[in-house]
Amino acid sequence: MSSLLSIDDALALVLEWVQPLAAEDVPVARAAGRVVAEPALAVTDLPPFDSSAMDGYAVRARDTPGPLTVVGHSAAGKPESRALGAGEAIAISTGAVVPEGADAVVPVERTSGEVEVEGVRPGENVRPQGGDARTGDVIVERGDVLRPPQLGALAAAGVVLVRCARTPRVSVLATGSELRAPGEQLAPGEIYESNSVLLAAQLDSAGAEVTVLHSVGDDERATRAALERGLDSDVLVTSGGVSVGPHDLVRGALAELGAEEVFWRVAVRPGKPIAFAVRGGTLVFGLPGNPVSSLVGFELFVRPALLALQGARDPGPPYLPGRLGATLQRNEHRDDLVRARTRIEDGAVVLEPLTGQESHMIVRSATASALVLVPRGSGALADGAQVSYLRI
Ligand code: AMP
Ligand code: MG
Repeated sequence: MSSLLSIDDALALVLEWVQPLAAEDVPVARAAGRVVAEPALAVTDLPPFDSSAMDGYAVRARDTPGPLTVVGHSAAGKPESRALGAGEAIAISTGAVVPEGADAVVPVERTSGEVEVEGVRPGENVRPQGGDARTGDVIVERGDVLRPPQLGALAAAGVVLVRCARTPRVSVLATGSELRAPGEQLAPGEIYESNSVLLAAQLDSAGAEVTVLHSVGDDERATRAALERGLDSDVLVTSGGVSVGPHDLVRGALAELGAEEVFWRVAVRPGKPIAFAVRGGTLVFGLPGNPVSSLVGFELFVRPALLALQGARDPGPPYLPGRLGATLQRNEHRDDLVRARTRIEDGAVVLEPLTGQESHMIVRSATASALVLVPRGSGALADGAQVSYLRI
């Protein structure tokens, strides 16, 4: 048992087999979640001109305080063409060009009458040209994952296309003769097939282009044929059939199809019998069939692999710090990923383990928002112990 591969060693092996995907140009508006392959540069200064931070009057600071003569109006997108002279003010709106000759803006709240202004310092309420970014500045770097703030920055800096790794194409295959699709009538011994829905949703959230293959029973020929189809993808994720029973056919079928097994079984609970194989550029994850094992195996290995394929700088998994809200017995041989609910106490995350931690209990898991990493060892982790967790 103690010779089982650790989670970290298993993930390191997965990452060793990752061959980065090719890059393509992606319109910024459609690039959410994508990973940057080449730096994107600002095509303009930002702001592109000295602009006003307030509604008010553009002035020469040295003329303030005092009465000024309003000689024009600079609105956002409609600059005033005349320059400002001594003793003059130009009415200005937020985001409008600060007219030539002016070096400050007096907010409208600090003026009275027609028009008496309070004192301002040079540069006050002026957003200088290039104060946010200069033309040619790097807005996003290779390896960045594009989240809403980065997308907003790219658009603001005038970027139209951003070079990203192409989206990984991933096939999902559920195996098991007992599986029926929801909506069908269950015969004795059958259960509803849930892993392909679960995995497809996880894959979707990881930005993959997902193909869900028709699930197969525990039949060698059918299993081989379905796996062969899935091996066309960048990544093939299977569920079930990787254990040691006579009906666990996935590993054997993969071997017959020329996939080389890199590892089988990891010191993790749930999900120990996970298999990882490669054929050509295709990564194959054989996740155990128990739904919670599938869920956990995906977060520990598949999601990081998808990010690594796209060249993400930090493929994760993104562990966060938290505090246990109960005592948890450790497992001697395997790291445990315990489903928990989170709450905030004194500004810190407290993790409350759920009852019903068995690997088939997907419904119990549905109220979880975290997977708490409980490192293997003897004894217990005390209530209040510092732990790492993954958000799910
Ligand atoms: P296996 O890994 O094939 O031995 O399956 C382990 C357990 O998970 C068994 O109880 C299966 O019935 C169940 N299981 C396997 N595949 C699925 C699936 N796609 N959806 C729901 N349960 C499954
Ligand atoms: Mg099975």
